[in-house]
Amino acid sequence: MDEIQSPSDDAEQLAQNPGPYPGQDFGIELQDDLEGDTLREECGVFGIFGHPEAAAITALGLHALQHRGQEAAGIVSFDGSRFHSERRLGLVGDTFSRREVIERLPGSAAVGHVRYSTTGATILRNVQPLFAELNAGGFAVGHNGNLTNGLTLRRELVRNGAMMQSTTDTEVILHLVAQSKRSRFIDRFIEALRAIEGAYSLVSMTNKKLVGARDPLGIRPLVLGELDGCPILASETCALDMIGAKYVRDIAPGEIIVFDEHGAHSHNPFPPKPARPCIFEYIYFARPDSIVGGRSVYEVRKAFGAQLARESHPEVDVVVPVPDSGVPAAIGYSQYSGVPFELGIIRNHYVGRTFIQPTQSVRELGVRMKHSANRAAIEGKRIILIDDSLVRGTTSKKIVRMMRDAGAREVHFRLASPPILYPDYYGIDLPDRDGLLAATHSIEEMREIIGADSLAFLSIDGMYRAMGEPGRDPANPKFSDHCFTGAYPTHLTDQTQVEPQPRQLSLLAEAS
Ligand code: AMP
Repeated sequence: MDEIQSPSDDAEQLAQNPGPYPGQDFGIELQDDLEGDTLREECGVFGIFGHPEAAAITALGLHALQHRGQEAAGIVSFDGSRFHSERRLGLVGDTFSRREVIERLPGSAAVGHVRYSTTGATILRNVQPLFAELNAGGFAVGHNGNLTNGLTLRRELVRNGAMMQSTTDTEVILHLVAQSKRSRFIDRFIEALRAIEGAYSLVSMTNKKLVGARDPLGIRPLVLGELDGCPILASETCALDMIGAKYVRDIAPGEIIVFDEHGAHSHNPFPPKPARPCIFEYIYFARPDSIVGGRSVYEVRKAFGAQLARESHPEVDVVVPVPDSGVPAAIGYSQYSGVPFELGIIRNHYVGRTFIQPTQSVRELGVRMKHSANRAAIEGKRIILIDDSLVRGTTSKKIVRMMRDAGAREVHFRLASPPILYPDYYGIDLPDRDGLLAATHSIEEMREIIGADSLAFLSIDGMYRAMGEPGRDPANPKFSDHCFTGAYPTHLTDQTQVEPQPRQLSLLAEAS
């Protein structure tokens, strides 16, 4: 049985400082209302086992995963007798580039997390990895994804006396492990995973083990790497490249992998199902230099652009990417069509992502702060703008106006993904249907709203063809493309229960 550890220093830190990192104003409303959190997050995870510099390497890995979450970062380490935890609001570098912070995280095992939640509920107690003392010892967990029955399970746990510290669905996993009556840690963990549904790539740690887990459909990515003979788990391969680690393989959908002093052991407790990785990782979320599911994200994005050019190709003088997310697709469009590629928009890299702004008016300001027209490249020209996706239409509207103001003669707009018609429940920050421009407007209406001379989106079959598939097979789609098709690959229990009915199965049949 695991020996019981003393509480991490983080409990004291939380008690003393329940608000944001002292001295920093993130412009984010802090609130304590548990129901106020939508429980949706975009995140990145990292873990390493058996390395003398575990925390420093984890900090580097988190730097490479910063694009997956910019609101908060945390690392928990284990030094052989105690757990140590540092969790802060802000960017990885705000906290973990400081030597004294890394020195407070001794030990040869560490797990880390970057987080970006979607609402005002940005509170320190939600920053991961979460840590708890269970009767069998300490347990830390970092989660990328979103549980679709997290709220339902949470209500049931609270009704049965659980006291929740955070508003994240990840804490539900901690409680399920804590309440399991099984004796071995792995059996308790598996029992917890059997109760949850939705998307999860988990990196967790006990005082003896590093444990990774991926949901049965493999919706969010998780890879295994190796550095100096030590195993590493990370959301994306770019985190391995950053530290010079070797990529070993992807963690398989439904796989639980455990590393301890005896080596590595895999468990596959779920009945096998065809995988359904989220296609939005390729469109927007993952870093272009990552290999996700065996495919280069950069090459896939270029192929989306080439496919766009195949599908519609107006007479234009230059191809202009909306930086940075539209750049690979614009290169692909330009290479396929032969139309020259120009940097007609320059991005200021020192402001945060558009979505971090809390209100629509501030979001619009954010776009202006972020992008500037490069008049020399576009004046008097017919241009085709390429971006990866259109969500609320804020970026496209601003940018079309900016291009016209800078003298573009014609402005055509192309999106390297199909219209986003449905919300995401698996950890990508997208608004509900009424916030999605394409869900409430026709293409012609959208064209008018954004003020472009023409507007077109990549077709769904074209998106699959660019991924090397013959097209979308409705009976067995290779990817989770629910944002475009509404074909959610799991039950959406929290969405389908008007009155909380814990344990009741979703009324929705599996969408495909
Ligand atoms: P919008 O301006 O609302 O139409 O959003 C589209 C822009 O946001 C595009 O430039 C995308 O690169 C970017 N984007 C798409 N999805 C997300 C997301 N989940 N979080 C943050 N930005 C996104």
